[in-house]
Amino acid sequence: MAETFQGLVLNETDRGVPTATVQALSTDWLMPGDVLVAVQYSDLNYKDGLALLGKNKVVRQYPMIPGIDFVGTVADSRSPLWKSGDQVILTGWGVGERHHGGFAQMAQVKGEWLVPLPKGLAPLQAMALGTAGLTAMLCVLALEQQNLKRGRPVLVTGAAGGVGSVATWLLAQRGYIVHASTGRQEEAAYLKRLGAEAVIPRLQSNSRPLEREAWGGAVDTVGGETLAALISQLSYGCSVAACGLAGGSALHTSVIPFILRGVRLLGVDSVQCPVELRTQAWNELAQAVKQDPETVDEMSQVVALEDVVKLAPLILQGQIRGRTVVDVHAPSEEGLMTK
Ligand code: NDP
Repeated sequence: MAETFQGLVLNETDRGVPTATVQALSTDWLMPGDVLVAVQYSDLNYKDGLALLGKNKVVRQYPMIPGIDFVGTVADSRSPLWKSGDQVILTGWGVGERHHGGFAQMAQVKGEWLVPLPKGLAPLQAMALGTAGLTAMLCVLALEQQNLKRGRPVLVTGAAGGVGSVATWLLAQRGYIVHASTGRQEEAAYLKRLGAEAVIPRLQSNSRPLEREAWGGAVDTVGGETLAALISQLSYGCSVAACGLAGGSALHTSVIPFILRGVRLLGVDSVQCPVELRTQAWNELAQAVKQDPETVDEMSQVVALEDVVKLAPLILQGQIRGRTVVDVHAPSEEGLMTK
């Protein structure tokens, strides 16, 4: 039987920026899927900012419920993988882009898109990490597969943002020396609380293919000039896990660092990442939270569904610190904004 729930709906306009309204919806209206999930929390990612502002054709069809991830409880299932009452996480698979997403109290998706909420990880903690946390962990695992060494600094770019904050924290917790690069020096104390040993300004490219060897590895969330600059500064045989393009998608570099320094560029994608790797990454995230729940709390704020519309421009301007959890059941309140 159909249920009514609240959700944020984007509708196309001729001005390019879609309208966004929280409204009552029916489960009958949701796109097809074999699992119906009662959503508890979602969160705000860079891609949600693009969707809410109608940029980069992130939303493929309207009307659309945005929100590229969520955590919740299975309410009804025709999938052999899940039964009512199971706690599940969804990230990626085009949800919030071409399939109704997590900025609503109910979601209907394919069973194979879901992973179980790891034991010991609270739903709020899961979305304090969310897609950004999964991506940060995938970056760390990719670097470790390439024998990332302790003892040499590992650079994190866009460090005060969502992926950057989680990557800084995870690397420090795993015993690496983290140098956090940020355009916001006022966030230096925050980044040090996450475990950064040093906080440095954003990298500037001077277009030289080889610079002084400075980093034993890097997580790059910025792309563009930043990625080009850090490639020229990686030490011999070291790798950068590149996952983001907050600073641009064009990459002007040369083959010289790859040939003469054996530098490796590791592309990281969380959207279509295989379920086995996703499950491993979530289990490792749960272990990290178990060891240090306070820092996850420190790096996140909780907002209501209505608030995401106000926050969308800020995340695209790189003005939001850390992670923003969306409580889809909370009433909207003033003053929840950025820390
Ligand atoms: P945030 O906006 O939270 O963080 C991005 C950070 O990048 C900002 O906080 C800022 O950090 C820095 N930044 C922003 N604009 C610029 C600029 N013009 N030049 C240099 N630095 C800039 O976003 P997220 O952490 O959620 O996402 C980061 C990137 O990763 C995005 O491009 C996103 O699309 C991508 N992403 C990719 C995923 C994947 O699967 N590959 C999954 C999730 C995200 P500071 O102020 O510290 O310099």
